[in-house]
Parts: sequence; C-alpha cells; structure tokens
Amino acid sequence: MSFLGNTSKPANNRVAILQCGSYALEPLYQALKTSVALAGGLEVRDKTVLLKPNIVFDSAPEKAITTHPVFLEAAILLVRELGAKRILVGDSPGLQPHNFTAKLSGLGETAVRMGAQWVDFTQPKAEIAYPQGKTIRQFTVTGAVKEADVIISLPKLKTHQLMYFTGAMKNLFGLIPSMLKSPYHVRLPGREAFASMIVDLNAAIKADYAFMDAVVGMEGPGPGSGFPRKIGLVLSSANLLAMDVAACEIVGYPPKEIPVNREALSRGIWLNDIGEIEYPAVKPWEAALPDFKKIPFKKTGSQLADFLLPRFILKFCERFTPRPFVNPALCIRCGDCTRICGSKAMSLAGEGKEKHVVINYRSCIRCYCCHEICPVKAIEIKKARKSTSPANS
Ligand code: SF4
Ligand code: SF4
Repeated sequence: MSFLGNTSKPANNRVAILQCGSYALEPLYQALKTSVALAGGLEVRDKTVLLKPNIVFDSAPEKAITTHPVFLEAAILLVRELGAKRILVGDSPGLQPHNFTAKLSGLGETAVRMGAQWVDFTQPKAEIAYPQGKTIRQFTVTGAVKEADVIISLPKLKTHQLMYFTGAMKNLFGLIPSMLKSPYHVRLPGREAFASMIVDLNAAIKADYAFMDAVVGMEGPGPGSGFPRKIGLVLSSANLLAMDVAACEIVGYPPKEIPVNREALSRGIWLNDIGEIEYPAVKPWEAALPDFKKIPFKKTGSQLADFLLPRFILKFCERFTPRPFVNPALCIRCGDCTRICGSKAMSLAGEGKEKHVVINYRSCIRCYCCHEICPVKAIEIKKARKSTSPANS
C-alpha cells in the first residue's frame, strides 16, 4: 500500500486502453506489457506484490463473473518480468469457505502453477486506520495488505446491481475478509453511503495500480447474474478512479453518475476532474459500446438523501425500490442467500420438496447481496408487484 511513496496522489492520470480479442496468453501478455509502458510504467522491482482479482463467488471463467485465470497468468508473468520479489494472489468472496482455493474459476491453481502464493484472506487479518474517513475510519482487511509493498487491483469490467458498475475501486472491497463485508451493507444501506465507504477504503489502502480484464465483461444484472459481453480490451493505470471513469465511458455510463466515481471525484485525491485523464492509446469513446446493457439509474431526487434523510423515511422509500424475487423454478435451495443476508431478511422454510426461500421485505435493505451470490441466477431484482409465489412474501 503506497501510492508510490504513501503520498496522496497516484503516480499519474494515464489510462492505457489496448485491444485484445481473446484469452490467449501471449497476445494478452503483450497487450498488458504495452499498456503498462504507455501508462507510465510500474515499479515492482524487489517488492512484494499483491494481485487482487475479482471473485464474487467461485465459478467457471466463461461465465465472466470472475477475472479470467489467463488474465491473472499474464499479470503474474509481467509483474515477475518487472522484477517482483514475491507475488501474492487472493480474494475473499462473501461466503468464503475455510481454505478457499478458487478452484472453479481456475484462479487459485493458476497462481500456484505460476509460482505465486495463493493467500487465504481470512488469516491473518490486519487493521487499517484512516482517521480522515468520511464514513468509515478503520477497516479490518486481509493481512496480505500489510505484507505487500505494491497492491494491484485486477477487476473484471461488470455491471453491479447496487453500485451500477464495478471496476478497480469497488474490487478492493474484497480485501475485507468474507462475512465481515455484510455488516457494511447493514450499516450503510444506501448507494451513496456505501460508495463513500468504498472511497474511504481506497483512500486507506492506497492501491498502486490496476489491470482491468475487459476482454469479456458482464452486462445486464451483474455482478453475478449478468451475461458475458465481448468487449475486447485491457486497461492499465496507476490511477484506479481514472480507469473506472474510462471503463464507464466505454460501456455508456455517464461516469459522474456512478456513486463511487462521483464521491471519489468530490474528494480530489485521484482526480479533480475527468478532463485530467490522459489516454495514450485507444480513447474510451473510440471503443464505446452504446448497446451495452446497463443497470437503470434509480431516481433518488437527491444524492444526499442517504446521508440526510431520517432512517424511517429511507425505510419508507425502500417500498418503491426494486427488490429481490426468488424464482422457485431455478432455486436449488442451497441457502447461500440466507447466509449472506446481513439484515436477516431471508430464510429457508418448509422441508423436502416444499423447501423454499422466504423474504421479509420489511427487513430487506435492498443491498442485493443475495442476487450477487446466488449461484444459479434464481434471484431477480425488480419493482414490487403483488406476488403469489411462496418464495417471496
Ligand atoms: S435463491 Fe439462489 S442462493 Fe438462495 S437458496 Fe435459491 S439457489 Fe441458493
Ligand atoms: S434480502 Fe437480499 S437485498 Fe434484501 S437485505 Fe437480504 S441480501 Fe440484501
């Protein structure tokens, strides 16, 4: 964690966007290497480097839920070639089992095969203080954060039901071990408050760099239930906010409408204005995908509402906010959603074939963690309607 010297600013505002049409290792590695050179270089010689891919839950690479294992392989190759002394790799999904190895995604195996160290993010933990935090001033994170001299975020470009978009900055939420993440949703139920926490976390961690896997991203109801979308790009930058702004422009989100971007811009740590970003290769507007399927923006009336309105009014407003519905035909009754739900709004009822998920909408805070974690896309987020399904009450 450094921002290259532990000062307040990233090394520069360059985002190198390069075309890369497949997950073949050699072209991917060359694209990453060129992009790093164009983005101003990456200093890792004799350093311990932590690579943080995105694993919402462990799943096959072709589902585009996780950072692709060949993307990780290319990143390890490059970081090693640049002289890294030791490479750590890990992530902590919301329901991380003991000794999680990211088997289905191939990320754990790739890390080990490439001579990097796969890290269990739950052991040990470390405390990171950020006294200037606007929303959170202390975070419990994986101990790997303190071991690393350089932290590199490896996000997958995806939509996100709660935050609209997830990229380099949101990816760092996975540094918080497993179930320690849920309480943040309960404590900070609105989008703006949650975004403020993500920005506090990024300011506290001071990640040095990001490589974004946008070879195949996810559109529609991401980050776990959307659809793979060929984008054909890799992005490199020392400025995580600048990278996220560029990615939003590519998929057609107005960058300042994304809560994390807006909050980060307001703090002036990474950028004061998106006009400061330099694009030494492809420009985001040259790679724009106007038909990319995005999460529709919620009309809040006021971006300050999450902070200023009394809790009971926010609670009332939740009635009109899209909510999770379980499709009983798809649900396999695994119970993952009931375990991830920090507000205890979900439960399994009945026995045998009658077993089903029940949602108490009075307790539901619309964090959409259940939707994110469901392994079979059985949870849909939509506006409230009278439902006759026993799964939704
Ligand atoms: S809705 Fe999804 S996560 Fe919940 S029990 Fe059914 S399959 Fe599992
Ligand atoms: S039911 Fe789903 S959306 Fe509602 S609080 Fe629980 S996890 Fe969040």
